[in-house]
Amino acid sequence: LAIEDISMQAQAMTLAAPTRQQFYERLLAGSDSSANAIWLAQIIASWQAGEGVLPDKLGLSDLQFDQLRQRFLSLDADTNSANSLDFSRMLEKQDLEQLLRKYAATSNEETEWLITIIVAACLGSDHLWHDLGLWSRKDLSAMLKHNFPEMAARNSKDMKWKKFLYKQLCEAEGLYLCRAPSCEVCQDYPACFGPED
Ligand code: SF4
Repeated sequence: LAIEDISMQAQAMTLAAPTRQQFYERLLAGSDSSANAIWLAQIIASWQAGEGVLPDKLGLSDLQFDQLRQRFLSLDADTNSANSLDFSRMLEKQDLEQLLRKYAATSNEETEWLITIIVAACLGSDHLWHDLGLWSRKDLSAMLKHNFPEMAARNSKDMKWKKFLYKQLCEAEGLYLCRAPSCEVCQDYPACFGPED
């Protein structure tokens, strides 16, 4: 390779956008490395790398986003998302937030970030863990068990998480929109309980 080619390659490498892994490592470097910090770092790193569906500020309010930036010092205030979710079509936003809040293990700003972010990701059309930017379904299950243990325990049949959350809303309202009397005899069973990877 000519010197100019090597120099151009080196320049390109310098200019290349950080990978999700690099964002993740930077986020965690300044954090307390708690379980929630690790899951939040996954979510934020995916968002910074343009993955998942979360909108600007991860769907958080200005105040919440500023609080989050105090926990994750490498989080840039000017990061823009490639996505712009339309919350005006999300009539269930408040109900979902209330559902999660009801089952939250603790009541603090970190839990509120998670609630807002999870609800925002529910607007996506993929599996919840993927829309959130978590790195696996296992991470989502662990995060929900850690933060909303009683609610997560209700998903004893390992239903897909987004389906499960919406089913909780329907049941809370006394609505049973499913077409079958029970999951066991329902023809939509694979849609609710199939693999989520
Ligand atoms: S499997 Fe059928 S009955 Fe069970 S939650 Fe899904 S749609 Fe409803």
